Amino acid sequence: MALAAEEGFDAEEIGDLSEAGPMPVLAVVGRPNVGKSTLVNRIIGRREAVVEDKPGVTRDRVQYEATWNGRRFRLVDTGGWEIDVFGLDAMVAAQAELGIQTSDAVLFVVDATVGATDTDEALVKLIRKSGKPVVLCANKVDGLSGEADAAMLWSLGLGEPYPVSALHGRGSGDLLDAILDKLPPAPEQTFGGEPLGGPRRVALIGRPNVGKSSLLNKVAKEDRVVVNELAGTTRDPVDELIELGGKTWKFIDTAGIRRRVHQTAGADFYASLRTSAALEKAEVAVVLIDASETLAEQDTRIISMAVESGRAVVVAYNKWDQLDEERRYYLEREIEQDLVQVQWAPRVNVSALTGRHMEKLVPAIETALEGWETRIPTARLNAFLGELVAAHPHPVRGGKQPRILFGTQAGAKPPRFVLFASGFIEAGYRRFVERRLREEFGFVGTPISISVRVRE
Ligand code: GDP
Ligand code: GDP
Repeated sequence: MALAAEEGFDAEEIGDLSEAGPMPVLAVVGRPNVGKSTLVNRIIGRREAVVEDKPGVTRDRVQYEATWNGRRFRLVDTGGWEIDVFGLDAMVAAQAELGIQTSDAVLFVVDATVGATDTDEALVKLIRKSGKPVVLCANKVDGLSGEADAAMLWSLGLGEPYPVSALHGRGSGDLLDAILDKLPPAPEQTFGGEPLGGPRRVALIGRPNVGKSSLLNKVAKEDRVVVNELAGTTRDPVDELIELGGKTWKFIDTAGIRRRVHQTAGADFYASLRTSAALEKAEVAVVLIDASETLAEQDTRIISMAVESGRAVVVAYNKWDQLDEERRYYLEREIEQDLVQVQWAPRVNVSALTGRHMEKLVPAIETALEGWETRIPTARLNAFLGELVAAHPHPVRGGKQPRILFGTQAGAKPPRFVLFASGFIEAGYRRFVERRLREEFGFVGTPISISVRVRE
């Protein structure tokens, strides 16, 4: 399991999510094999991009940055999930739905040589329902003779089909022009597609039965916000505004939490998808764990998803009312051993049943968000690094002593540091630096990333 501060955490990717807010998002949607990946590669002008991505639920909705005519946007490739698990149609629809939900516009790709299939029609319905602007790409039109195939796709009712050969590039310029026409100019600062300054966004996540619905009902009991039109919020029926500790919070995907998902085959998988979609929209994740049961592999996986998403994290142990002495003893050891990856996260021990320590939840969330947004001025960072390096130099390797020369905080939400060094800095030393950074500056409740650039 990769620790956030180590190599597993991709600073550049997280950077995009946190700071490239102004960039509009285009979801690329379509059946498998219509050429989505080929088209994405064509648009971003890289061959290797898609091939490199590994399957796995958190990483699957892969985002890329693209530029056309000086305008930048983000591409979300909704392909890439393992197809074979629960039947193709369900898979394709689930992927598409999530992709569409989080985008500003949709690029719908159809294989013109095959024509519109039932799955294509189903996708059209989803897109229509979303009300998002859409550009229709008739792919695999490799030559003039294919243009007639493309024209057949007018029947989908999505407007002009743009004939394209993703493979050879034919027509891709016109397609990109059409895409830019549909994408909003985005001068506004946003995060996760939401304008900044609205209610803070919380994802309440955890495996089934840990008490998510109960907790939500408890906190929302008296103070459910009825008006769904607060300034600076976008309406999303699955989210809920809840007043807590004198502030309004947006709980992401509460519909998904409240809905009783039956334990059919695949429920886990969909729960996982919802979790990653919720994380994408959220700023802070409250990971709920059932304190009365041994920590499950699924708990650890959800924690990893939260950490890897680069969101602030609070760990909440629920069902505290059910603990006996013995369980409490084991729980403490579990926390030490199995929660190392979120040692830095604030922890609250609550009971959704009795209401125990509910009042500690908001301060924990606020602390985590504060850590997540922290920026250390460069001068202060370098004063700290200078002292650190002088007092605890990197071990000598092969007769040389690699040194950290200076550093800078490249971004926040979560904090990202770039250190410049005179040689290779070992993982152990990086961890040491992270530990000391946390001791010095706090960063409670947030993953941080440290990348090292070696100056020859
Ligand atoms: P995805 O599953 O939608 O991402 O589809 P891929 O990009 O993996 O493409 C599926 C297959 O269609 C691959 O064999 C591609 O080489 C092929 N393909 C993609 N675009 C074109 C195209 O414009 N023309 C032709 N002839 N083949 C294409
Ligand atoms: P979800 O699937 O995560 O939304 O979990 P639920 O909220 O549906 O809770 C699952 C079960 O745990 C229900 O039977 C709840 O009554 C119970 N439960 C939830 N929170 C607590 C708690 O703090 N203490 C106890 N004893 N039971 C709880």
